[in-house]
Amino acid sequence: MTDSKIKIIDKIKDMQSLSNKIRMDGRTISFVPTMGALHDGHLTLMRAAKEKGDFLVVSIFVNPTQFGPNEDFNKYSRDLEGDIKKISSIGVDAVFFPDVDEIYPDGYETYVEVQELQKPLCGQHRPGHFKGVATVVLKLFNIVKPDVAVFGEKDYQQLLIIKKMVRDLHLEIEIIGMPIVREDDGLALSSRNAYLSDDERKRALSISKSLKTMSSEFSNGKHDIKELINIGKGILNESSILDIDYLEIRDGNTLKNEHIAKRGDIVAVAAKVGNARLIDNTKL
Ligand code: AMP
Repeated sequence: MTDSKIKIIDKIKDMQSLSNKIRMDGRTISFVPTMGALHDGHLTLMRAAKEKGDFLVVSIFVNPTQFGPNEDFNKYSRDLEGDIKKISSIGVDAVFFPDVDEIYPDGYETYVEVQELQKPLCGQHRPGHFKGVATVVLKLFNIVKPDVAVFGEKDYQQLLIIKKMVRDLHLEIEIIGMPIVREDDGLALSSRNAYLSDDERKRALSISKSLKTMSSEFSNGKHDIKELINIGKGILNESSILDIDYLEIRDGNTLKNEHIAKRGDIVAVAAKVGNARLIDNTKL
């Protein structure tokens, strides 16, 4: 059962016409881009976006250009019906749900890159990932024409990159970041948590635990980044999380490397638990 009040739009032209009409009526558009497999983290962004504009658009698009050749593009959950059900009480006005061919027709060749911010952390371990993200978000902005767009701090580097792209390219869009939504036990909500077995789900808890412990050690006066990282890695290793892409502390705005941690720095982690590559972060 789909909520008949939500318009489902799969063509770029139709979305642009609708957005033009809304704007001509003097109404504002708020926007939440997603890849579907929606959970409470996504819904929190949508509730915030609902408050920020007159007409709320959500996009659901698993973007192939941000996945590497050996990543989970094919197995990523696609369940439009289930997603629409989950958002039926939020007040979403339109869902933009295009095919891959609609967004990247034959002969497509234009990309946008935020050159420095895309380098460290996930950028280093997923080459081309942020080029794909920045490109698809810019395309979605040109299709949906939002006044406001809401992103999660769960993807902290992505949020910084989008903010920078908006500034550098003079886009007239307000970007809002929302705090990470977690399970009661601390696990950050993620579409990829669905890949975890019961045992992996338990072990995955040590990801948020390591960040929390590093953060409290920092508050207690330990500021040497190497020492803090060792504490965090120890907690991950105790749960047999050994496949760690990175666990780093970097400047919270520039993502530059440092030796001594300071307030406002970001502690960011990416690690494989079973087949799931999970990310999480916290601010010091
Ligand atoms: P995704 O569908 O994974 O591309 O995520 C779509 C948006 O939801 C992004 O802005 C994410 O940062 C955000 N998001 C995903 N998980 C969470 C979470 N646990 N808390 C807050 N925002 C989230």
